[in-house]
Amino acid sequence: MPQRAVEDVLWAYYFRLMDLKKDFRFKYVLIFKNEGEVAGSSLEHSHSQLIALPIIPKTVKEEMDTAKQYYDSKERCIFCDIINQEIETGKRVIYENDKYVAVAPFAPREPFETWILPKLHESNFGPSDKSFSGLADIMQRVLKQLDKVLDTPPYNFILHTSAFKDEINDYYHWHIEIMPKLTRTAGFEWGSGFYVNPTPPEEAAKFMREAKI
Ligand SMILES: [Zn+2]
Ligand SMILES: [Zn+2]
Repeated sequence: MPQRAVEDVLWAYYFRLMDLKKDFRFKYVLIFKNEGEVAGSSLEHSHSQLIALPIIPKTVKEEMDTAKQYYDSKERCIFCDIINQEIETGKRVIYENDKYVAVAPFAPREPFETWILPKLHESNFGPSDKSFSGLADIMQRVLKQLDKVLDTPPYNFILHTSAFKDEINDYYHWHIEIMPKLTRTAGFEWGSGFYVNPTPPEEAAKFMREAKI
């Protein structure tokens, strides 16, 4: 896709979110993409999905609550702290442009799990300076790196943004989590909530950085 088309997709996410927010029945809107049959994609052509929910999903609530606890004790956003630390050490940074950074998180659940975050604090998803060009750039870049390193793997990505009821805040920082489907979630993971990941994030980030695009 040309970058402008990716920007249009991001604008579509944004306008749908803005519109659904007006419906008082909804507490959260989850936007995600399943790419490839193994990752749960139900249609052949490329598509994203959106599900509006009457409750805040458990995963989002846990992230928001934990970020809030961190903020209450340190008076800083945990994601801003992570970004500063990652940019300083550079070991887990995959790619960055002016406004966004892509990192292999410190404790990834899956091999090559990748997070994209705005570098400056933003609690809810939206265009930065009225533009999605920086986000389209980093999304395309990272997905191309994944395709190159892992030979077009199936993957999921999800958008995590603040819940409608507390959209503007200092403690939660929207981000996109990308999860290539390389391993199988099985009994141990379902039973424990623990994930077994054989690939250290530093190694994954290095492979991604060195991918020739
Ligand atoms: Zn932040
Ligand atoms: Zn998240």
